[in-house]
Amino acid sequence: MSLKYLVSACLAGHTVRYDATSNAQDAICQLLHTHEVITACPEMLGGLSCPRFPAEIQNGQANDVLNGTAQVKDVIGTDVSAEFIAGAQRMLALAQRHKVDVVILKENSPSCGSRYIYDGTFTRTKIDGYGVTTALLKQHGFQVLSEHDFLAMMQDQL
Ligand code: SF4
Repeated sequence: MSLKYLVSACLAGHTVRYDATSNAQDAICQLLHTHEVITACPEMLGGLSCPRFPAEIQNGQANDVLNGTAQVKDVIGTDVSAEFIAGAQRMLALAQRHKVDVVILKENSPSCGSRYIYDGTFTRTKIDGYGVTTALLKQHGFQVLSEHDFLAMMQDQL
């Protein structure tokens, strides 16, 4: 039986990043031709525009954002936590409705990161952690792979 995927829209070539570019990955774009793939961007699902100001998690971790004790703020200080949480909830709904088998989300993003995120200082400093969408998916039993995890798995199969 063919696996069903939920993938960050930017990894599939959609220009939905904060700066209106994509993070297209050839191996992930290829999946679109061979498997059932749902592509979505949680930040846009949550109501943010494109382009938008870059945002980072402040004063805590993604789970703290979900429970209201930390925030996601953009670089000019606007609190976009509500949009990030709404986007995470819509991604979870997609994952559950489509019963996806594999989730591949973009590393380093405050929504989609699964191993690393930026530290909240807007200095491109990475720390261990994961994004708000990843946190909610993990809370509901989904394993989240980064594009790097996925590419490494593909290499192992060669
Ligand atoms: Fe890509 Fe996720 Fe950022 Fe959207 S929120 S641009 S899908 S990394």
